[in-house]
Amino acid sequence: MEGRRDGDWRPAVGRLPTALLVPLSLWLAAGFASAGPPLHAGFAETDITPKLGPKPVYLAGFGPNRPATAIHDALKARAVVFRHADTRMALVSLDLVGFFFDHIVRVRAHLPEFAYVLVSSTHTHSGPDTLGLWGPNPLRRGVDDDYLAWVEKQVVAAVRAAEAVARPVTAVLGTVRVPELLHDAREPLVKHDELVAIQLNDPASGKPAGIIVQWNCHPETLGPKNTALSGDFVSSTVAELRQRRGCPVVYLTGTVGGLMTSLHVPIRDEAGAELADGTVAKTERYGRLLARRAEEALARPQPLTLAPLSVRRRELFVPLDNKLYLLAWQAGVLRRPAFVWSGHADRAEPAGAADVARPLCLKTEIAWLRLGQLDVAAIPGEIYPELVLGKVQDPPDPGADFPEAPIEPAIYAQLPGPHRMIVGLANDEIGYIIPKRQWDQAAPYCYGRAKPQYGESNSVGPEAAPVLCRAFRDLVKGRN
Ligand SMILES: [Zn+2]
Repeated sequence: MEGRRDGDWRPAVGRLPTALLVPLSLWLAAGFASAGPPLHAGFAETDITPKLGPKPVYLAGFGPNRPATAIHDALKARAVVFRHADTRMALVSLDLVGFFFDHIVRVRAHLPEFAYVLVSSTHTHSGPDTLGLWGPNPLRRGVDDDYLAWVEKQVVAAVRAAEAVARPVTAVLGTVRVPELLHDAREPLVKHDELVAIQLNDPASGKPAGIIVQWNCHPETLGPKNTALSGDFVSSTVAELRQRRGCPVVYLTGTVGGLMTSLHVPIRDEAGAELADGTVAKTERYGRLLARRAEEALARPQPLTLAPLSVRRRELFVPLDNKLYLLAWQAGVLRRPAFVWSGHADRAEPAGAADVARPLCLKTEIAWLRLGQLDVAAIPGEIYPELVLGKVQDPPDPGADFPEAPIEPAIYAQLPGPHRMIVGLANDEIGYIIPKRQWDQAAPYCYGRAKPQYGESNSVGPEAAPVLCRAFRDLVKGRN
């Protein structure tokens, strides 16, 4: 049968007009035979630092009422744009605690020729309140709407600027495990400690055109007493890599739930003295150490094909069970549309104030991006490592609230390609995404504890993980 297929194929080529064959041979000689048109990439960043003036800027991420008093380092929207043939895709990272889905919808409306725009937040805990939860008191929203509208414009500007400088690139990828720069603050102890670094190179000069670093940690080293605006360790990682490699850098936050933090990570200075949490010295040192580990990953480069570009995305509804979030929604502190939960993740009607006693849900999005050999899982919150890596506790702890809950389909187990990474807080921030059988709000508590562990109070509810993980599996498998 093989021979017959060959026989069918050869005459077809034989009939190709000579005029077509000549350019084809030039094309082959140029080295583009296997890849088709060349992949273009461009990097750019815009400023998103709030202005300190008469309006208070409330810092997000720890307790309420933490007004900013200074700017330690500028907050940025960092974008990388890929173009392959007529397909454009943008990945943007914001030095923010999170950015709701409605903003991303408005950003995309300004970029209609893009097949996909992914906007993720680093989750810095020294940025302005962008979600509403950290105002002067729990009943007052800490958000400046004019600022949010400006951030939307700056995201569009970063994408446009990156697109304008896009040029042909080749790519390499390296990974390294970095357990020493992660503290897991919640049992069971499961770290997502794989750092992914991608370097794009100018094929003519061989010089770096830009670097993407994907890492899994809360940027909260500066701690709850800090009152200066900062991107936390991310700013140092980006500055260090940019200076050492001479190219722009985009940092993408991945798995940060369960709970991956820079706090309590022992960090020493060059003289061997331990640096304390909440200090600039520890924050910057952490950032530089992470940059070094990214360079180690790139010192073992694997060739990477990043084209063609494709995406599958799905909007879906996630039940909103968190009583404090419901109160915040009623009070107008959490300002985003709510919907009446229908029992199905794919349909829901908008909810009004009169619907507050009914089960409600939020609209969000998951996506699976394929950039050639690289699979990217885009998850709209702070997912637990157990759900990404397929390490949900089994058997469950008898103290868990839902020990009978089935184990959710793991995110990375769905991805078919040879290379992968995860982008968390992607296009939304719905809080912690906790394995349902590790949900633990009611006594008795897991692991013989007298008190529950931290996590559930900043999750929309126990159904978030089952709904999102099943939807991601179905998305990759092509099911509805
Ligand atoms: Zn968090």
